[in-house]
Amino acid sequence: MVGGGPAGLALALGLAGDGHEVVVLEQSPRFDRSFRGESLSPDGVWLLDRLGVLDTVVERGALVVERLEIAENGRVVMSADFADYPYAQRYPMEIPQPTLLAALAEAGAAYPGFDLRQGAKVTALTEEDGDVTGVRYRGADGEERELRARLVVGADGRYSKTRELSGLAYDKQPLERDVVWLRMPRPDGWQRACYRIRLQGSRHGLFIPTYPDDIRIGFNIPKGGLKELRKGGIEQLHRRIDEIAPELSQGLRESVTGWSGTTVLDIFTVATPEWSRPGLTLMGDAAHTLTPILGQGVNHALIDGHTLAGLLDRPLRATGRRGSELIRTATLRFQHQREEAVRISRGLQMRQERAFTYDNQLAVAGRSALYRIMNRSRYLQKRVLCSAYFQLQPELAR
Ligand SMILES: Cc1cc2nc3c(=O)[nH]c(=O)nc-3n(C[C@H](O)[C@H](O)[C@H](O)COP(=O)(O)OP(=O)(O)OC[C@H]3O[C@@H](n4cnc5c(N)ncnc54)[C@H](O)[C@@H]3O)c2cc1C
Repeated sequence: MVGGGPAGLALALGLAGDGHEVVVLEQSPRFDRSFRGESLSPDGVWLLDRLGVLDTVVERGALVVERLEIAENGRVVMSADFADYPYAQRYPMEIPQPTLLAALAEAGAAYPGFDLRQGAKVTALTEEDGDVTGVRYRGADGEERELRARLVVGADGRYSKTRELSGLAYDKQPLERDVVWLRMPRPDGWQRACYRIRLQGSRHGLFIPTYPDDIRIGFNIPKGGLKELRKGGIEQLHRRIDEIAPELSQGLRESVTGWSGTTVLDIFTVATPEWSRPGLTLMGDAAHTLTPILGQGVNHALIDGHTLAGLLDRPLRATGRRGSELIRTATLRFQHQREEAVRISRGLQMRQERAFTYDNQLAVAGRSALYRIMNRSRYLQKRVLCSAYFQLQPELAR
């Protein structure tokens, strides 16, 4: 595995649990990342339970989210209550990535075949007769090394080096806007367990409850617009948020006093027509980068890992040429099984992103009306939310 993010670690845990030998090469020496996807959909939570790590992450600190609320010009136009959904895991969760990754790595370390090498950066692929046979990497001690593998898995995220090295074609589509992320304490009067989306013309903000008792705020700026925003000083950022969430004004000024507390996410999607070639497959963000809308990235990464582990178990037991053929078939099947769900998420995100950018009055009124209709129609609400949140779990009998 190139990359020990949610995708690579979920796959490694699954394979090691089935008795296989896996090496995860992760360039970062630690799991201490911030401003990464922390939102797990109910399906993602369900999967963590199946992977045997849910109890650990809950013990170490995670937030259960009970509601989603969309407000337009200060008025709530849609509100969904996750309690209404008949699934074993019906609530999304906010789990800091360091907690999630450490829990997956610890669970993996319980198996003898699991080998996580942190501080190991992959720099090249090795090939023989057109098949990928392994990688070259620089270890934590600075030494260059080579590692042979029956399958190299590029799970190295949105800027995937493996994707680049593999020569697999991909289509990167920048969106019109980027997102600035920042974090502040939850204000009094804001219910903790609620996702909030605030819309005002073509501006929008996401307000996400964050463990232990903060909120992450993501708000849109024009593509590459950070320079312009920064020209006005930090006060300009405060004013931008005042426009969509005036009640945060004081707390925001107290807690976000400089740009160091912010980060910009360059928003683009990546679609890769072929996820694999002999000896190599891509997965997670490396195969299909999504946008932050409805927190889908981590979920797809985990589901990819779990799915691929299941498909590889038998092929990895076969040896020689037959084994290589079976592994190749498994990677093709993997794409076939996963790409429809990714396509649905991408479509949903792009539709939402388009709706968020409306700036003429008529379109904005139409958007508001649509959210209000959804608010009254359980059927429509379910259709939209189920396609983002409930694809894996069986529905419970009522
Ligand atoms: C700033 C930011 C904010 C985000 N916000 C959200 C959000 O709100 N909701 C959401 O759902 N998603 C969000 N995402 C996306 C989410 O984090 C990803 O979809 C998810 O983590 C994908 O998992 P992954 O395992 O495929 O890749 P990643 O989590 O990116 O993991 C890839 C790993 O590969 C390692 N790596 C990279 N190159 C190499 C190399 N050459 N050698 C060895 N290791 C390497 C990296 O260090 C990293 O640990 C955000 C991402 C960013 C960057």
